[in-house]
Amino acid sequence: MPDNSHSLRMERKKAVVDAAIARADQDKGLLLVLTGNGKGKSSSAFGMVARTLGYGLKAGVAQFLKSRRDTGEEGFLGNQPGVEWRVLGDGFTWETQNREADIATAKRGWEVARQMLKDESLHLVVLDELTYLLSYGYLDEKEVCSDLAARPTMQHVVITGRAAPQCLLDIADTVSEIRDVKHAFRSGIRAQPGIDL
Ligand code: ATP
Ligand code: MG
Repeated sequence: MPDNSHSLRMERKKAVVDAAIARADQDKGLLLVLTGNGKGKSSSAFGMVARTLGYGLKAGVAQFLKSRRDTGEEGFLGNQPGVEWRVLGDGFTWETQNREADIATAKRGWEVARQMLKDESLHLVVLDELTYLLSYGYLDEKEVCSDLAARPTMQHVVITGRAAPQCLLDIADTVSEIRDVKHAFRSGIRAQPGIDL
């Protein structure tokens, strides 16, 4: 006897999915937050930069914590004509003992990001590792959120970094928390070109 139950189930599923797709008929500049302790936050954001360029649109990337400049993302995406690539965390490390200097660096960095958030020509703005500047209290949450809210209505923004503060989750349209199940680093494997940097 032929088994019709699978095709019936699939038919019903398709009706539900099609109805959901038909309901989602609005466009909007999105705020995405990629957080959590697992690997894949920044690389996902850079994937969206690549997609954006694929449409001939422009993207801005602001990297708030960066100890090295020889990464694959900067080597490739940073050299694309449609990308404004700014490293804002120079001289700003985990080990810094000088909180005042870090706050000044963070504020200068945010000024650059704020300009991106005013630039209508940028379809996408990536604020990579921004969360740390908020959790350390280097930047004022209210100020950051109001600058994000004031951006062009069709501009998308992706914020990455562990432990995203609640205020960002509240104003975000899409939030993904990437869970750390396993990481090769803990088996003694160093960062691999193309995968980790
Ligand atoms: P990626 O840039 O690879 O997408 P990420 O942005 O999710 O990583 P970060 O916290 O920014 O993660 O860490 C950057 C670097 O640390 C990358 O080399 C990444 O592979 C590594 N890393 C990420 N998660 C972990 C982890 N749970 N344990 C050890 N190393 C990690
Ligand atoms: Mg990252």
